[in-house]
Amino acid sequence: MTRTVVPDDHPRKASLDMRDTVIEGHQSNVVATAGLLAHGRGEAFDYLIGERTTAQADAAIRAAVAAMLTANHPVISVNGNACALVPNDLVSLSELTGAPLEINLFYYRPEREEAIKSALLAAGAKEVLGTHDRPSATIPELSSTRRKVDPDGIGTADVVLVPLEDGDRTEALKRVNKFVLTIDLNPMSRTAIYSDITIVDNIVRALPLMVGYAREMKDTPVSDLKQIVSEFGNEENLRESIRLIMEHLESKARSPKATASTSGR
Ligand code: ATP
Ligand code: MG
Repeated sequence: MTRTVVPDDHPRKASLDMRDTVIEGHQSNVVATAGLLAHGRGEAFDYLIGERTTAQADAAIRAAVAAMLTANHPVISVNGNACALVPNDLVSLSELTGAPLEINLFYYRPEREEAIKSALLAAGAKEVLGTHDRPSATIPELSSTRRKVDPDGIGTADVVLVPLEDGDRTEALKRVNKFVLTIDLNPMSRTAIYSDITIVDNIVRALPLMVGYAREMKDTPVSDLKQIVSEFGNEENLRESIRLIMEHLESKARSPKATASTSGR
């Protein structure tokens, strides 16, 4: 497909470029058709947040990276949208935190699994878990096609990063006592609520910041990292994220032309 050329000064440039990336991902089998719609739901929430990383999201990003760095066995779950949008950052984060990448698809098709695996390998991944040729374990209480996990990945993980995940699966991961980190622009989704640390931000902004924090905190003493994690409260995080959306809407209600003012970084 030919990408739409969006001028640099176009106010929706980042958003339109992202849309093209997701459409390309759909055409190369990486993104499911339902993934296009999920992206649209994300876009709508990004608009409400002001298309910026809030200071609150930045704090959640830091705590999530601290949790990955102190985990015994962290794992990064990868779906089609995440792979299409941030393949290189997923690989960098995996390397810096020692968390393997595991493909987990809501809408499984062998050609999607293959396309995602190829994209991750092309981005520099040395190993990809969760593929059909790997051993598989199950997490209970989920319908048959979606409960499969890799025994060397999510099966034995203590901390799991599940960006853009569905609520049923997040709830199942909590039931088997995983410490769940997510990236979800909707602070009211079930995934946002069930998770231990919810990063309310666009994955394209959050992942590069996670990579930066992982580099920065790699040599931080474990006790300091553990303190960052234990001091983070997700309920307060979600409350504050919703409050920030309301503040942004209130400023728009006063002056529809106003732009979002506070930024995390
Ligand atoms: P839940 O199942 O958790 O209640 P849901 O059913 O509303 O959520 P799903 O389609 O299951 O939504 O999950 C997709 C989630 O991913 C949505 O909450 C959407 O806002 C979010 N999302 C989509 N694109 C992005 C993105 N680029 N960055 C961050 N979040 C995104
Ligand atoms: Mg859902």
